[in-house]
Amino acid sequence: MSRHRNVRGYNYDEDFEDDDMYGQSVEDDYCCISPATANQFIYSRQERQTPKEQPLEEEEYEDEDVPMSPTVSLHLDPLDQAKLYSCLDHMRAVLGDAVPDSVLTQAAIRCGFDPQRALDVVLSEDSKTAPVTRTTTEEKTPAAKEKTQLPQRTKPEPEKAKSREAGNKLDSEVVPKVARMTVSGKKQTMGFDVPSSGENGVVAASVRRGGSPENAAVTPVPDSASKRPETPSKASNGDETPAAPTPGRSSGKSRQAINVKAELEKRQGGKPLLNLVVIGHVDAGKSTLMGHLLYLLGNVNKRTMHKYEQESKKAGKASFAYAWVLDETGEERDRGVTMDVGMTKFETDSKVVTLMDAPGHKDFIPNMITGAAQADVAVLVVDASRGEFEAGFEAGGQTREHALLVRSLGVTQLAVAVNKMDQVNWQQERFQEIVSKLGHFLKQAGFKDSDVFYIPTSGLSGENLTSRSSVSQLTSWFSGPSLVEQIDAFKAPQRSVDQPFRLCVSDVFKDQGSGFCVTGKIEAGFIQTGDKILAMPPNETCTVKGISLHDEALDWAAAGDHVSLTVTGMDIIKINVGCVFCDPREPIRVCSRFRARILLFNIDVPITQGFPVLLHYQTVSEPATIKKLISVLHKSSGEVLKKKPKCLTKGMNAVVEVQTQRPVSLELYKDYKELGRFMLRYVGSTIAAGVVTEIKD
Ligand code: GDP
Repeated sequence: MSRHRNVRGYNYDEDFEDDDMYGQSVEDDYCCISPATANQFIYSRQERQTPKEQPLEEEEYEDEDVPMSPTVSLHLDPLDQAKLYSCLDHMRAVLGDAVPDSVLTQAAIRCGFDPQRALDVVLSEDSKTAPVTRTTTEEKTPAAKEKTQLPQRTKPEPEKAKSREAGNKLDSEVVPKVARMTVSGKKQTMGFDVPSSGENGVVAASVRRGGSPENAAVTPVPDSASKRPETPSKASNGDETPAAPTPGRSSGKSRQAINVKAELEKRQGGKPLLNLVVIGHVDAGKSTLMGHLLYLLGNVNKRTMHKYEQESKKAGKASFAYAWVLDETGEERDRGVTMDVGMTKFETDSKVVTLMDAPGHKDFIPNMITGAAQADVAVLVVDASRGEFEAGFEAGGQTREHALLVRSLGVTQLAVAVNKMDQVNWQQERFQEIVSKLGHFLKQAGFKDSDVFYIPTSGLSGENLTSRSSVSQLTSWFSGPSLVEQIDAFKAPQRSVDQPFRLCVSDVFKDQGSGFCVTGKIEAGFIQTGDKILAMPPNETCTVKGISLHDEALDWAAAGDHVSLTVTGMDIIKINVGCVFCDPREPIRVCSRFRARILLFNIDVPITQGFPVLLHYQTVSEPATIKKLISVLHKSSGEVLKKKPKCLTKGMNAVVEVQTQRPVSLELYKDYKELGRFMLRYVGSTIAAGVVTEIKD
């Protein structure tokens, strides 16, 4: 028992009520303007006065100030002319109309009509000549300076970040692969039923970034009509033998015994894997910060970035260019909000990092839980702007809820990016104010002071992301690490490679070829191609035909890896998001009643017997009720204070019995930490964190 308490790590001596004093919103009457004079894009139309509709022929023959290569004749034969037009079309698709046709034509001819090379030439030449846009005050014009100091009520359009040359690859198209992690409610199209019509699916349709989305107050009253079709008629509880399981480890034809631990150490150049989730209030700048970070690390090249800038500008969302690196789907861009958990990969000096960009909006908390449940460490992004930090931190803001959630889901190391510091002129006082407010709260939430690191950043200008800042207003008081240095310094977690295989399904889709694909994180054990694995529910076996990690085909994968498996021998309709794939010889237990120790958050309504909740567990979101209130425990010693209480109130620690509407696959927390933790939500807010102590039936 005490182990459960320790790992959840709450400081039970302190009450969450203490935080209420931070819930005050600072008057939003002071807001620095980011330099409006700054160029939005590398390409400035003012500098290049070429008329938009200038015909190509005129360009070629009349544009005398464009020096042509002496080897190139201006009189192109029809074939070359066709090649030229096609090349120009390609280039304009990326660059829009920002670059004069004459420049494009010249580059196209010089590069033998190869659009990729020509684009590189144009971009690299432009970056040599384009004035570097700085965000620092010392480099602003006096007029700009004056403007920055003007208080303004409306939120200014943030300036375009300066472009950085270092580390950017120009040679080839580099686009980060962003995988999507969905939660159960999004699988309706696959023919599966949806656990709840509320939190996942319904609200997704109406949210706009920065807008005021409908706050869908979800009443998680179990919907009796909703039944998981493929659930076994009698839930298997682990004592049962699964339906004709074949021993997993002996079935592969070409399987070779491998020493996974040794292989893991060798893999990725010996760099350990770190699963990192980015959390924070909506509009704190999470996607921009991580998109810019990926760009600076060379995971997005300049050309692609320029394309995003053009597209976002055309869509009237110029300041979201970096955010588009991660908000990859057209749907998300249209809606202007991160909905699914975007996953991609980057490397630091000593780690390979799987990055998960969780949605900030409160209506997408279930998706965020899915991301956080699979994370080892987190980056919490807070907006340093006056009024904005307070809005995210007060009741209803996601800063607190996200921090509590990740801690409850087992994340112990946290980097806090105090972002948009450009908006507050890199003031040390503002940084300290935020650090002290957050510090107090994070300590209460169970984070050790020594495991929380604060970094002043600007996601938009790129300061302090991959290298230490050179902005004098910042360096005069901050000499700590950059965000990437901090991520690199996180301790890599231990992987449960020795335990039986477990993978919680986060997505199911049909790919080309036989079988279908499932994605998810391997929570324990390892898997090899050819293995037979068991899906619970529906208690059926299938064979692993292929394994891919970050789009790379592998023969094996182990705990901690976010993989995509191609499986055969099972009907796709039987697999739902939230199913757990496991070793058939040691299957996960399936139950609809279990006992748990829970910690109640700052709830308004006391919990009584029969209280309806939504159980969020890994990728599962399932209607449930608090069937019995067993006991109230002492916050620190864990001793029973009261048996069979009538109700539970905020901050209490209690043992309860939970009844789910349909069977779910669970483990005892003492056996599998990751699969034994859950969160309870009620009407759109998280009311408790819990750990499974006893599985009933
Ligand atoms: P998310 O909802 O947390 O992912 O936030 P986004 O990354 O979508 O950013 C929200 C808005 O804040 C966008 O307009 C960004 O351009 C802007 N923004 C993000 N980071 C910064 C920053 O460091 N400085 C300024 N001035 N604006 C920023």
